[in-house]
Amino acid sequence: MNQMTDTKPVRRLRTGAEYKASLNDGRRVWVEGQELGSVFDAPHLAAGIDVLAEMFDDQFSPEHAGDTTYFEPRLGAVVSRSWQAPMSREDLAERRRMIEYTARKTAGTYGRPPDLGPSIAMGLWAYLPTFRKKKSTFAGLSPDFAENIERYMEYGQLNGITCAESLTGPQNDRSQPLAQAASLLRVTAVEKGGVRISGAKSVGSIAAQTNEIFFTNLAYEGTPPEACIWGSIPIATEGLKLVSRECLSNPGADPHDHPLNHKGEEADQLVIFDDVFVPQDRIFNLGDQELVSYYGRTCNWAHWHILSRLAVKAQLFVGCAQLVLDILGTARFQPVQALVANLIQYAQTLRAFVLAAEAQAQPTEQGVFAPDIPLLTAGRMYSIQHYPNMIHTLQELCGQGLVMRFGRKAFENPDIGHHLVELLPGHGVSGIEKERVMNFIWDLTTSSHAGRVALFENVNATPAPILRTRLFNEYDRSAHVTLARKLAGLD
Ligand SMILES: Cc1cc2nc3c(=O)[nH]c(=O)nc-3n(C[C@H](O)[C@H](O)[C@H](O)COP(=O)(O)OP(=O)(O)OC[C@H]3O[C@@H](n4cnc5c(N)ncnc54)[C@H](O)[C@@H]3O)c2cc1C
Repeated sequence: MNQMTDTKPVRRLRTGAEYKASLNDGRRVWVEGQELGSVFDAPHLAAGIDVLAEMFDDQFSPEHAGDTTYFEPRLGAVVSRSWQAPMSREDLAERRRMIEYTARKTAGTYGRPPDLGPSIAMGLWAYLPTFRKKKSTFAGLSPDFAENIERYMEYGQLNGITCAESLTGPQNDRSQPLAQAASLLRVTAVEKGGVRISGAKSVGSIAAQTNEIFFTNLAYEGTPPEACIWGSIPIATEGLKLVSRECLSNPGADPHDHPLNHKGEEADQLVIFDDVFVPQDRIFNLGDQELVSYYGRTCNWAHWHILSRLAVKAQLFVGCAQLVLDILGTARFQPVQALVANLIQYAQTLRAFVLAAEAQAQPTEQGVFAPDIPLLTAGRMYSIQHYPNMIHTLQELCGQGLVMRFGRKAFENPDIGHHLVELLPGHGVSGIEKERVMNFIWDLTTSSHAGRVALFENVNATPAPILRTRLFNEYDRSAHVTLARKLAGLD
């Protein structure tokens, strides 16, 4: 922990080196069936950790300090913006600076950057009065949920911790209404000072690369009290096993060949809780069925984060499209202009949804400003419905150059390099410069890594059918019905 006392006000910010050192904690991670000695032993995880570490170091740079840090009056200290609770509409715009910063830093490919997990902890804090009223339904253990949430917020703010969040259960047979129950996290025993839980969470994006995991179960009819648990524990907790999916990026590749993917990735893990002890001060719900259904409300800022990140990524798509027009000399073709206009429409629409949801934000019972949920849900629907088409549009603008890429070594090869130089120049750029742009767009739209990101965008915060159900259930249409009845002559 780096407490800098020579500046005023006090800064409680971690450096990248401190963040990296905190991951050498004995966590258990498997990649391709092999347990790692250290999370840094897997090149794609290590390279992704380097990207995250840069974000910590950027907090100290004049260029990024305003985006990544803020003064927290309750603590009298400058802390990471990841943990900021927006107490006004203006605060929402300020907090969004951090989202836009992490989106730019990762080309929007990290859906769970260091400021996403904390937004869920903050989401619980936003409903503190509700959590204060609730009690454990388990005999022998009565954690004070509200006190724990407050302490956790302060811990996160003062220590700049990073956390994964995992709410969804592993995929298994969905044909039975309660099929998910088999893998739900459950309290198996109440002990002195805490509970033991078993079960699993999937997918825990970025879990291996963070300090903590924030977990609960998604509510559905019949969720038993022992599965109504909300908490957060360090990744290195005994009994926690992280099984990582395969590597999809190109860590260690020449940056020319893979401008984005050589930096590794945000990896996803199946998180197995094998008889894990959760201390009582890390429990935010124990047995209360109503609190589990607070998922939509408490994850509101995470959903706003997701849409805000996608809005930045959409702007990046526009930038990439214009670059392609410039290097191929295709800007003069009207159909090409129309394709770019489609990308601009997408980017502007996402931005409009974000701004509208902030403009319509209302304070929660704790005074935290909550973006308008139906506007966010409609925006998220729009963003995922059109995402594949935006990728396709960018690919179409690139033509053959997107796949006919040969790598730096080919350009430098004495037998073939001069042919490539001669045959492949673009409009005002050399062949190798043109290829660099195509390499970046390949990484962003078409590579294996891009495939994972596209899947992520589609389902990471509930898939389209469930978003539609939310819109149906949560959008107040009574005024529209009144108008329709009046104009139809019914009233
Ligand atoms: C790359 C990636 C990263 C992710 N990261 C995280 C994370 O960090 N944290 C986290 O909590 N979750 C994460 N998720 C999980 C995500 O929340 C789930 O994928 C999502 O909730 C859908 O659940 P499922 O995949 O189990 O789909 P399933 O339940 O297996 O369903 C498959 C499909 O069937 C349809 N379907 C299923 N049930 C219904 C229904 N009741 N009504 C209508 N249609 C239905 C949907 O189209 C759905 O996509 C991630 C997912 C991916 C792919």
